[in-house]
Amino acid sequence: MTSPAEARIDLSAIRHNVAVLTEHADGAALMGVVKADAYGHGLVRVSRTLLDAGVGRLGTATLSEGLALRAAGITAPVTSWLLTRGGPYEEALRADVELSAAETGLLGEMAAAARATGITAKVHLEADTGMSRGGSPLAAWPELLAAAAALRAEGAVEVVGLWSHFACADIPGHPSIEAQLDAFDQALKMADQAGLSGSHVIRHIANSAALVDVPRARFDLVRPGIALYGLSPIPERGDFGLRQAMTLVARLALAKRMPENSGVSYGHLYVTDRETTLGLVPLGYADGILRHATGRVEVLAGGRRRAIAGRVCMDQFMIDVDDDVIAAGDEVVLFGPGKDGEATLQEWADNLGTITHEIVTKIGARVPRVYEGT
Ligand SMILES: *Cc1c(COP(=O)(O)O)cnc(C)c1O
Repeated sequence: MTSPAEARIDLSAIRHNVAVLTEHADGAALMGVVKADAYGHGLVRVSRTLLDAGVGRLGTATLSEGLALRAAGITAPVTSWLLTRGGPYEEALRADVELSAAETGLLGEMAAAARATGITAKVHLEADTGMSRGGSPLAAWPELLAAAAALRAEGAVEVVGLWSHFACADIPGHPSIEAQLDAFDQALKMADQAGLSGSHVIRHIANSAALVDVPRARFDLVRPGIALYGLSPIPERGDFGLRQAMTLVARLALAKRMPENSGVSYGHLYVTDRETTLGLVPLGYADGILRHATGRVEVLAGGRRRAIAGRVCMDQFMIDVDDDVIAAGDEVVLFGPGKDGEATLQEWADNLGTITHEIVTKIGARVPRVYEGT
């Protein structure tokens, strides 16, 4: 290890998770969701592993992420769904990135790009079935369908997907799940009436939580994100046999003996109550170790769990190891799969009052991702 810290990504865990989720999908195809740098695990390397493990499609939020997959030479179907007016849609069509639209203005821009390039835009239409976030409200859905049907007749647009997203799939039994499924059925029926159905139109609504918990939500395609990385989509239901892929490690930058009554880090929130040994961990809130993690999470150093001592700083924080022998250069494990006694990402999320999605996507760009396994 030549850097102060690194995020080790176990690619064989990701492969294992694909196998677990393929079983849950029960015949539905998988779209590997690799937005936000593959949830902090590294866009291109993870995408290649997913494709090699049998995932047929990739999905990203932004178009820049979709284009980055193409720039890396990835040729599998790619869909980008969080799009805004202004494009660059000609570039998207030339790169063969499938797009998503929830309103006629954006669809019109995609059609204009198709006319300019001579390449038909492949578009997924998004319905709002009850999350009230993205997607066309069902009241406006017929208008969007009619616009898409007209553009299809012209050859500018091909509708390749009809989709939606759940608000509460991670809350088992939440009544909105069935309500959203009913609304999605209705949206699909309206699309069928508008002539926008058929075997080439992929219907999809399930994120990881719905994939593992709501059989009725599978349709043609499922869109797992968090579960691919081995993190439970419904923590109170256990780990579903998934394996956490990311381990975050750092090397102690300094270890030093300090007297009783030493105030530690900004604000002196922590004061030693005896002579003790302090270690300096070279990761801070700029690397995604939340400032608010002070006193809430533990790291593994010298074979034992240690609390963060004092404030987390931008680039570093301290640990107190009592009289244990540690030295500069020793490895500290912040989180991992938990096999050697280190905390898991789920434990961090629970202690920090958040979800694992937020922790992994915040690990900063200056922490190198190092790949293990195949
Ligand atoms: C992020 C995202 C997913 C994946 O969600 P997970 O909870 O990580 O499985 C699926 N679909 C859409 C539209 C998303 O934005």
